[in-house]
Amino acid sequence: MTTVETALGPVAATELGPTLMHEHVVTRSPGVQENWPHLWDREGIVALAERKLAELHGRGIRTIVDLTTVDLGRDIELIAAVARRSRVHIVVATGVWWMPQRYFSSHGVDEVAALFIRDITQGIGTSGVKAAIIKCATDTAGVTPVIDNILRAAARAQRATGVPISTHTWAAGRTGELQQAIFAQEGVDLSRVVIGHSGDSKDLGYLRGLMERGSTIGMDRFGLESFLPTAKRVEVLARLCAEGYAGRMVLSHDANCWTDMLSEEDKRRTRPLWHYNHIPDDILPALRKAGVGEDQIEQMLVRNPRAILEARQKASA
Ligand SMILES: [Zn+2]
Repeated sequence: MTTVETALGPVAATELGPTLMHEHVVTRSPGVQENWPHLWDREGIVALAERKLAELHGRGIRTIVDLTTVDLGRDIELIAAVARRSRVHIVVATGVWWMPQRYFSSHGVDEVAALFIRDITQGIGTSGVKAAIIKCATDTAGVTPVIDNILRAAARAQRATGVPISTHTWAAGRTGELQQAIFAQEGVDLSRVVIGHSGDSKDLGYLRGLMERGSTIGMDRFGLESFLPTAKRVEVLARLCAEGYAGRMVLSHDANCWTDMLSEEDKRRTRPLWHYNHIPDDILPALRKAGVGEDQIEQMLVRNPRAILEARQKASA
């Protein structure tokens, strides 16, 4: 039986079901809540996450991939506590986002890769929870020396373990292209890579290129209207489906249950569509209206995520 590691241990790949490939349970500034514990109500956050995941389960979603890294305040005990109170599987990531601590620039590629490999093969900290995906990121600053270090470490950890890479990009700057170039240089099979935040772009040439070179693209910020309005996101996705690219796209929101950047009230006021339920409630109906078929929706929500997450064992079997 092919299994995929989650916050509660291995789950049969056939059980993953409809999957959101880029979400977060909690994002926060590492160190802040540890030093000023009055800034957060841990039990309250677990209860809030439990409620939000129950709503998502009620809408048919069975798995989320939590791409929270160390520099986004990954808290594996918190994720596991939420998973224990949820019926939605939570796949956990290793890796580093684009605000890495000094550690990552003062240690070499292989030393950083060894940390990622440890999270994947032995588990995160003492939790026993194994990461099943590697996150790395390029933002407006591009590939700085520390980001180059991390992209290469991610590539080497991918090759050593077989788990996929999922990235954060600044789509307007076409930063997915340089990520692919670095991964290819490091010998990564680009079909094992999800180039994230691609749904922020309406540049069809850029998007087709990422997919033609073998990667999956993340149409994964539904609800973040400031990067690209919903109607345009739907239009681009429907167009690429019509062109036959449904096999190379996955869906998500990049939303969270709780973040230290924005209160729940601020989220509702400034980003009213940015929540876990937006895809099931609004986007799937809009895609159907735009001519996307049920089979293509199942491809993007079920078959593509499963193929990306389970390929590791197929490769080693
Ligand atoms: Zn994210």
